[in-house]
Amino acid sequence: MQWFDLSGKTAIVTGGNGGIGLGIARGLADAGARVVIAGRNEAKNEAAVESIQASGHACVGVKCDVAIPEDIAATVETTLSEFGGVDILVNNAGISGGGAPERLEEAVWDEVLDVNLKSVLRFCQACHPHMKSAGGGKIINIGSMYSLFGSAVVSPYAASKGGVIQLTRSLAVAWARHNIQVNAILPGWIATDMTAGAMDNKAFYDLIVTRTPAGRFGVPDELAGAGVFLASKASDFATGISLPVDGGYSIS
Ligand code: NDP
Repeated sequence: MQWFDLSGKTAIVTGGNGGIGLGIARGLADAGARVVIAGRNEAKNEAAVESIQASGHACVGVKCDVAIPEDIAATVETTLSEFGGVDILVNNAGISGGGAPERLEEAVWDEVLDVNLKSVLRFCQACHPHMKSAGGGKIINIGSMYSLFGSAVVSPYAASKGGVIQLTRSLAVAWARHNIQVNAILPGWIATDMTAGAMDNKAFYDLIVTRTPAGRFGVPDELAGAGVFLASKASDFATGISLPVDGGYSIS
């Protein structure tokens, strides 16, 4: 399918060493892209790289904390030196965090906003000149159902993910003329390390499953198709959109 062919393209996936990031990284690699896994945990990076290489695809890992600007610069430099360019950026790294808003500690707010939102801008800024000079690029930012809904429990997370949608739209407007499409994916409830606690809590798990029209959690590989679509020329006239992949959660 030439519309979805990513042969010759290079993708950076932040937090690509597990969960949703790895699901998307695998999808991009299967579609032909060379993949750079950018994560903090080197053992997880190595395992992810090995699993993608084992399928016959080009992949390298870079130790990167997305909250550290120097790590972002170094990740882009490594990508350029290993593969000669950066065509696709997936801003997936994220953490949850919160507490009752009336007692919320500023340090928690800062950490969640730094990792989930500020890093997205920084990574986009680091990749933009290379995409622009190459004639275009694709940026995919990972939002959440909390991009759309409020949360009494994780207000910094919801604020950061709401911000992801608006940042996505702003960058899409700014960079459309550079042929850089900037879009977001909004996952519903997906079985990963981040949601393991929610899945272990039977009452909460039942609530989510009942609230989700599909009647189940998703799995990380179910984000791969949306990732490939938004990374490929199939989506060249789509920019600034937020695509839910959520088993119907956001429309029920
Ligand atoms: P995981 O906890 O499985 O993965 C999170 C990933 O982010 C890890 O690879 C982790 O890498 C990385 N990460 C966290 N902080 C940093 C950092 N400072 N620098 C670099 N990497 C970092 O969670 P998910 O796969 O579920 O989450 C992936 C994204 O999807 C997040 O943005 C999350 O908010 C979003 N999401 C998840 C949903 C779900 O139901 N699972 C629903 C909606 C959105 P490392 O271990 O190396 O730190």
